[in-house]
Amino acid sequence: MNKRNKSSLTKRIMMIIVFSLGLFGAFYVFIFNTSSKLSDHITMQTTPQPTEQFITTPPPTPTPVVPSATPKLQYTEAVWIGAGDIMSHKPQLPGSYIAAEQRYNFDPIFANVAPILKTGDFVMANLETPIAGKDVGYSGYPLFNAPDELAEALKHAGFNILSTANNHSLDQGEQGLLQTMKTLDKLDVHYVGTALSDEMTKKQVIVEKNNITMGLLAYTYGTNGIAIPAGKPYLVNLIDEQKIKSDITQLKDAGVDIITVALHFGIEYDPIPSEEQKQLARKLVDAGADIIAGSHPHVIQPYEVIETFTSAGKKKKALIIYSLGNFISNQRGDTKDYGVLYKVNLKKELTSNFTELTDITAIPTWVHRYKPDQYYRYRILPVEQVLQQQQDPLLAPNDYKQLKSDFAMLKTRLESMKQ
Ligand SMILES: [Zn+2]
Repeated sequence: MNKRNKSSLTKRIMMIIVFSLGLFGAFYVFIFNTSSKLSDHITMQTTPQPTEQFITTPPPTPTPVVPSATPKLQYTEAVWIGAGDIMSHKPQLPGSYIAAEQRYNFDPIFANVAPILKTGDFVMANLETPIAGKDVGYSGYPLFNAPDELAEALKHAGFNILSTANNHSLDQGEQGLLQTMKTLDKLDVHYVGTALSDEMTKKQVIVEKNNITMGLLAYTYGTNGIAIPAGKPYLVNLIDEQKIKSDITQLKDAGVDIITVALHFGIEYDPIPSEEQKQLARKLVDAGADIIAGSHPHVIQPYEVIETFTSAGKKKKALIIYSLGNFISNQRGDTKDYGVLYKVNLKKELTSNFTELTDITAIPTWVHRYKPDQYYRYRILPVEQVLQQQQDPLLAPNDYKQLKSDFAMLKTRLESMKQ
């Protein structure tokens, strides 16, 4: 082979190598792209849905018949969030006091749940303490009086509606109750179940969000033996089935989209609703209530979703929460340190005004109490989120262990009346 032939052969071999490399490269790029797309696809398919919601999700709402010529919005939605008892026991005060500023700051207590509360439009709880002013002196059980800063912290956390009808409404007498209402008025927080005057009771409590109107009612079984001042029944609403039914009817006549009734009832520390609770709640649903927000037992009780009908005969769902438990308190043990937030989606069909409860989610919360110095500190923690994240700097492995088993037990309890 001469030099020329040799070099042309080398050239040819080089060309074959370059060509093969090019071919291999193109093939590699093709395979790589395809497999990465495929693996993306699989990841998307297998990523578990967030499991915050362990409660019945009602079947998807039937898609409305949309007239093809009108592409405008057919629905409006809003979120209702309910929380349980807001207690103000004496040990809760000193750890929240800022001596240098001579004021309380309860904001840190709610910091871990505020992001959830802020996703709501109608955000309510049961305020189980008067806010009667500094001059009266702050006190815990049995005759409560909490600082104004507690109401401010509730507002900061996202609450805009508070039920003030409970067995502690009159702990600081008529003046204490009037002062509580004035404080809430100043903060622009709606209150329900108590009134400043007879004239005010005749004014319905209706809150509107996103074009959905909610009529609110609240009643208590009693006021711990403290008599409601003579001639002033408007001060605190007592449970009276006929009265509640007529109040519901009046709200329906006013055309509200959703009716929420807060009931302060049941047996303290009983994890199961009494027959009396069940009968009353179900009767009120029959009368037109959409959500019954029960409180007082200081422990979580199960919920029920009941099928009912609108006055026009259309099927709808109603939610009965027998007891929301303690949202914040100093009570410990036997699940008294737990509460549950309910998050309910309200969906209104704009042409018919038919409004229904769609997603219902229960979010158990735990009051974490700890003692960094001589005073207790408190934080309300969303249990499932804390268990998932496993990175709370203030919780020890034993806390997680306890939370995990309590969470499972509470979940079973909550769902025990599920049909
Ligand atoms: Zn109570």
